Amino acid sequence: MGTVVSQTVYTDREGVTEQVTELLDTLEQDTLSWRAEGSEVAAVNAAAGSDAFVPLSDELRGYLEVLLSVSENSGGAFDVTIGAVTGLWNIDAWAASASAGENAEDGAAGIPDREAVRRALELTGYEKVQLSPEGIRLPEGMRLDLGAVGKGIACDELATLLSQLPQTALSGAVISVGGSILTYGEKPDGTPWQVAVTDPFCTEEYAGVLSLTGQWCVSTSGDYERYLEVAGRRYHHIMDPATGYPADSGVRSVTVVCKSGILSDALSTACFVLGAEEGLRLAEHYGAEALFITNEGSFVMTEGMEALFRP
Ligand code: ADP
Ligand code: MG
Repeated sequence: MGTVVSQTVYTDREGVTEQVTELLDTLEQDTLSWRAEGSEVAAVNAAAGSDAFVPLSDELRGYLEVLLSVSENSGGAFDVTIGAVTGLWNIDAWAASASAGENAEDGAAGIPDREAVRRALELTGYEKVQLSPEGIRLPEGMRLDLGAVGKGIACDELATLLSQLPQTALSGAVISVGGSILTYGEKPDGTPWQVAVTDPFCTEEYAGVLSLTGQWCVSTSGDYERYLEVAGRRYHHIMDPATGYPADSGVRSVTVVCKSGILSDALSTACFVLGAEEGLRLAEHYGAEALFITNEGSFVMTEGMEALFRP
């Protein structure tokens, strides 16, 4: 998936890190390659508009239930059916082909026109997804996009794998899948895990550190991951489903901490679209902790986050 994975595993047995690596490889091929042709999500998308329900694996059904509920509870700020819009913008390819961060006037040609955005928006809307015991049915042209949550799901599956290893084999681990982070168990010296939060104003630096004890998932959504600047305006990869344009809610990044990776990933994206005020309410609804770094560089956070985050 074009991302960096790093792992630190505290173990006194040989072979544990290899098992983690093996699982990551399998995940990359099965779970994380959802955008690839031949994947289950691709098959669901390809069948959009047909009368028949497409049968779902238990895993994908479970993920979609979570994602549709976040879509609903965020008032559509997170929308798992945003695929037609993200496909139109294709920011990932766009940012990869030009060098991100530079003023690329050429990129202006890649900005879709308003009419195309409007048409793509008509093909979105989580409330139009039909999920039944038989499977799933999407209206013509609709495309599911699980790009926001692939790495968080990987963290969840890794946590399951680690919990299946004998406790004597593994005392603790911290694994980062492209910036979605799983902390697990304990460090040998008993001190908390330290997770740095990137400074969105200077991405080589960090804005502060999270101290976490035990098992957690941490996800950050920021406007600095994949973007292009055209004529002084930044086009990044998190879309506002209300407008079809990159979200512009007054925050540069949102970091979410909770027990579930799929949730922390979906909530960080949703909170980025909602902005600090409404985002706080959404995080609280899920019992998640959230940290917003605003355009002015100030920190806004849930009450519980204050105990975890040190600027
Ligand atoms: P990153 O991929 O850098 O971790 P995010 O987790 O915020 O960042 O996910 C961004 C990806 O999520 C986009 O590349 C796109 O595939 C998808 N996406 C963008 N906007 C939305 C949205 N409003 N709702 C759901 N998914 C989105
Ligand atoms: Mg995310």
